[in-house]
Amino acid sequence: MSGTGPCHVCERPASLPVPGGLFSCAGCAARLGTLLLAGDPGVSRLWPALLEEEEPGPEPLVHLKDGRKVPLRDRTAALKAELDWPARTRLSAVYVEMGLLREAVLEAAGVLGATPDEALSGQALAVLFSPPLAPADPSALRDLLRPH
Ligand SMILES: [Zn+2]
Repeated sequence: MSGTGPCHVCERPASLPVPGGLFSCAGCAARLGTLLLAGDPGVSRLWPALLEEEEPGPEPLVHLKDGRKVPLRDRTAALKAELDWPARTRLSAVYVEMGLLREAVLEAAGVLGATPDEALSGQALAVLFSPPLAPADPSALRDLLRPH
């Protein structure tokens, strides 16, 4: 998984391998992450996992050491804020193994949007573009990401 080729989106020289024999430049990878996190409807459509309904019913509560009860979601967010980007990248792959596909997409998107580290961006792209998350039609990204 090395080498370079034209970026799938902007056609500038690119070195981030995307599963399927494509390449992405760092700028387009970061733009993909940012748009996914922002809930951009066009880009989100390519990752149907993002459209999954959240579990119905009330959010479970967890007890903190100081006796407070907080929603599990808030506690998870606080824990994730303490992780570094390599750990967040691994977490996205773990979410895939756990079947938490929506979380996996958002975690990988967060890595792409936030870190300029090429190795981590490459791993995040591998999560997004490998089964079961891989978009059915990655070529649609070209129009969606190209600056208008
Ligand atoms: Zn590009």
